[in-house]
Amino acid sequence: MTGSLPTSSIGPFVTNLRCLRCGRTIEPTSVAYVCNCSPNAGSDMGFLNIEYDYAAIAAAVAPTQITADPDHAIGRYWPLLPIADRRSLPPLVVGATPLTHARRLCDSLGLSRLYVKDDGRNPSASLKDRASAIAVARAQEGGWPIVATASTGNAAAALASQAAAANQPSIIFVPKTAPQAKIAQLLVFGATVLAIDGVYDQAFDLCMEACAEFGWYNRNTGYNPYMTEGKKTVSFEIAEQLGFAAFETQTGFAAPDAVFVSVGDGSIVGGVHKGFKDLLALGWIAKMPRIYGVQSKLSPAIYQAWRDDRVIPEPVQATTRADSISVDAPRDAVKALNAIRQTGGAFIAVEDDAILAAILPLARLGAVFAEPAGATAFAGLQQAVAEGLVAPQETIVVINTGNGLKDVSAAIQVAGGVRVIEPSISAVRKALQTGS
Ligand SMILES: *Cc1c(COP(=O)(O)O)cnc(C)c1O
Ligand SMILES: [Zn+2]
Repeated sequence: MTGSLPTSSIGPFVTNLRCLRCGRTIEPTSVAYVCNCSPNAGSDMGFLNIEYDYAAIAAAVAPTQITADPDHAIGRYWPLLPIADRRSLPPLVVGATPLTHARRLCDSLGLSRLYVKDDGRNPSASLKDRASAIAVARAQEGGWPIVATASTGNAAAALASQAAAANQPSIIFVPKTAPQAKIAQLLVFGATVLAIDGVYDQAFDLCMEACAEFGWYNRNTGYNPYMTEGKKTVSFEIAEQLGFAAFETQTGFAAPDAVFVSVGDGSIVGGVHKGFKDLLALGWIAKMPRIYGVQSKLSPAIYQAWRDDRVIPEPVQATTRADSISVDAPRDAVKALNAIRQTGGAFIAVEDDAILAAILPLARLGAVFAEPAGATAFAGLQQAVAEGLVAPQETIVVINTGNGLKDVSAAIQVAGGVRVIEPSISAVRKALQTGS
């Protein structure tokens, strides 16, 4: 490991990095990514949680100061971010994505307060922008010449676009099978792209080795503990948007009853949990929502660990069509399992057919176009409703993590082919009559 961060390169309210495995604390200015208590790589490393001085934040910042901030992007939550200066964030509007009361989806499911948080509307069209913005800010504050990441596609696209905005060189490891749209994003934003003749897990390990070898800043999901701190901003926004809608809260923030999010490595769901934990610790929300993590039955490692009451998941051979959640050995399972176990939620495993089918109601009744991994969260809600895990009056949020334009071939597979006609009014009439 090369380089050392100047003392100032951390948020002023960060107190410690605490190991989730042995409980030891590490100085926040350390360059460590994980605690060295575990000899193992992969799912059993000493993952770090970033801790804040909540009393000091509550004394220094009123919640209404945040809700009145003219910056709509994640910089508005700067007291709760691990960066020294909010201006270190790349000059892009990350976050500020819509939370919509989906009335027709409510009707179709017998719910009354279902909201869709559309994180496909981020600069590179997925929730990963929230984490990559933090990665680039920390790389810039630390003076790292290069940021690298492994990715199933979206984390890489997010890093490439944030890096372009900040003029920060980046190197990307993706499986060569990543959808074309995601590869196109990497190339147009000018990242150095190394497509691996292998699966995501191999790209992950290679990126780890290369960062150690060449002294690059490593954005890898799970391994880099600060990515959780970016992903948690989705919960800040959900609570702020619900608080605004509710008119019931003094703080301007309000928690939903339940949140549904798709799970691959487990980093997003861990981030969602961290965001609500921060707000609860500050007293800005009154309760912790139940968190539901949704996996494909063809990539179910964390689901199985939860079902079998294990601490560390057994690796699987993932084959799901939802490429963003296709993971053999999940890298952030500890935080993911905590998120579900500590909130009274559940993991849900759904069929790939249900994932693809869920794209249609989400689009036709909710007007949100999701990539398969995004629609997975909604497929999980459908199953949860069928199993009675949620009640009709509850406030429920489904997070769409990625835009449908990321993978149009999956969408066309479920939406059906297009009808071609001759350019004449009689052909229009005939097509409308026969429906074929
Ligand atoms: C990365 C990603 C996920 C899964 O997030 P994890 O942190 O790997 O669990 C889900 N959906 C989309 C669109 C993603 O890009
Ligand atoms: Zn440890």
